[in-house]
Amino acid sequence: MCTALKELPIMAQVDSPRLEIPDSLKTVDWDAEFEKDGVTADEMFAKANTSLTYNDFNIFPGFIDFPVSAVDLTTKLTKEITLRAPLISSPMDTVTEHEMAITMALHGGIGIIHANFPTPADQAAEVLKVKRYKQGFINFPQCIKPDDTVLDLMAIKSLYGFTGTPVTDTGKVGGKLLGLVTSRDVDFIKEKLYKSTRIGEVMVPRERLITGSETLELSDAYNILEGEKKGKLPIVNSNDELVALIARTDLKKSRDFPNSSYDKKGQLMVGAAINTRESSHATVTLLVEAGVDVLVVDSSNGASQYQVDLLQWLKSTYPQVQVIAGNVVTMRQAKLLIDAGADALRIGMGSGSICITQEVMAVGRAQGSAVFQVARYARSRGVPVIADGGIRDVGYITKALGLGASTVMMGGLLAGTTEAPGEYFWGPNGLRLKKYRGMGSIDAMEAHSTSQDRYFTSDDAIKVAQGVTATMRDRGTCHKFLPYLIRGMQHGFQDIGIKSLNEFHSKVYDGTVKFELRSQNAQLEGGVHSLHSYEKPAY
Ligand code: GDP
Ligand code: 5GP
Repeated sequence: MCTALKELPIMAQVDSPRLEIPDSLKTVDWDAEFEKDGVTADEMFAKANTSLTYNDFNIFPGFIDFPVSAVDLTTKLTKEITLRAPLISSPMDTVTEHEMAITMALHGGIGIIHANFPTPADQAAEVLKVKRYKQGFINFPQCIKPDDTVLDLMAIKSLYGFTGTPVTDTGKVGGKLLGLVTSRDVDFIKEKLYKSTRIGEVMVPRERLITGSETLELSDAYNILEGEKKGKLPIVNSNDELVALIARTDLKKSRDFPNSSYDKKGQLMVGAAINTRESSHATVTLLVEAGVDVLVVDSSNGASQYQVDLLQWLKSTYPQVQVIAGNVVTMRQAKLLIDAGADALRIGMGSGSICITQEVMAVGRAQGSAVFQVARYARSRGVPVIADGGIRDVGYITKALGLGASTVMMGGLLAGTTEAPGEYFWGPNGLRLKKYRGMGSIDAMEAHSTSQDRYFTSDDAIKVAQGVTATMRDRGTCHKFLPYLIRGMQHGFQDIGIKSLNEFHSKVYDGTVKFELRSQNAQLEGGVHSLHSYEKPAY
């Protein structure tokens, strides 16, 4: 073998002339060609002559001369409400109750409490929970009664992971504080005695408890807990009723949320969905009393007499409350609702992940076209729009904003997170799952009557579902997921060469930001491909 190698001829060095420039390229007006490289959003929709959605196009990269952190995502939710992040959680009963709404607002977005509760008072109570949220305070701590047993406490521990539990006469927040039970009080108890040992026997009783008053500042609470070497500080009102709990572990790791969505009083902002029927007038009164910042008129086709009447009533009765109307997908629908007083519009019909409207009703519009056309018209009237549904990942958010939306609304993307309502369960394949269902699914409509109102009149004898019931994989906490979405958008904006949403929109409308349609093969190429297997941790 060695001799064979020696016999190989020595390769002559390849001649390397300059790259030849064909004559036909020498006379081209390149500035004009640069203009033709990519199209404006307007041209893209005109040329396509068909409806488009997010996956059908790419946005061209621009020039980067600023860091990702310089990208400002401040935007308008409605004419009057400004948010620091363009993110909204959908009013669905598997997506937004108070926990999701608090987390959305802490990260600069907003949550819209769904309307599928047994009573309107229950919905208003959720709004109140968001409004009462105080950083570092556990406002609705899990409580226990003195007659409950150590076994009940252990059930709380295995379900939620903590044992520090206030004892009240009702077993709920608002009851008289009778004591506190922590792991220290039960560690020594043998398992076989769990069922026979009552909490009242092992708890630290009220007279030995250190508590704080409602007006306590977090820094004072920290000093008390540090000084007394305690893990939990129950907060009581003047009647000695429990109103909250403070955990030392939280104070130690206390997070800063510099971009939170606060109202003028410094409380977190929250929205709530209402249906279009006259019966919603009473609900609106309760929601407004609870302090709701924005109402979302929840209807799959917003262009209805019901909605026009409701908007006019809302604007004359509660002019201080912002109203988001919808849903719409055409300019004509948008005009109707803007004329009736809408402060923002929600765009989407049939684009949601759980939605079957286009299949069943034969009506709807591809989300990209709907967002672009409606946003253009609404912008001319000074009304911001929400791109609702069909957001599968962070790139879709950037594209929706690029088509003129000021915010995006998400259901499925948030449904598997810790903050979404419902418990996790184990799927047959060993995956941790949460339920996610369309509000027009039979499942949701049968849960409570209000969900029917979006899709039917309550007295419809025959129901036609417009949504499905599904499961979503555990996505972890929104405290990690939302910062990922925000940073992902900032990276997208940086790649496009824009520093803010305002700049994005003006450069889309003046044609500076360029787009291009992509073929089906290009779509495949743009995703992960040609691999044997892969993993996709996103953050
Ligand atoms: P414990 O000593 O077993 O109660 O647990 P830690 O104090 O170490 O942690 C409890 C964590 O759960 C803290 O981050 C709390 O904010 C959080 N948490 C959320 N809801 C509740 C609740 O209802 N009760 C308690 N005790 N903690 C809660
Ligand atoms: P996703 O983010 O999961 O793609 O879409 C969420 C959006 O789908 C919601 O904000 C809402 O507008 C819409 N939606 C929710 N439930 C249903 C349903 O049952 N049917 C239809 N057609 N749309 C739904």
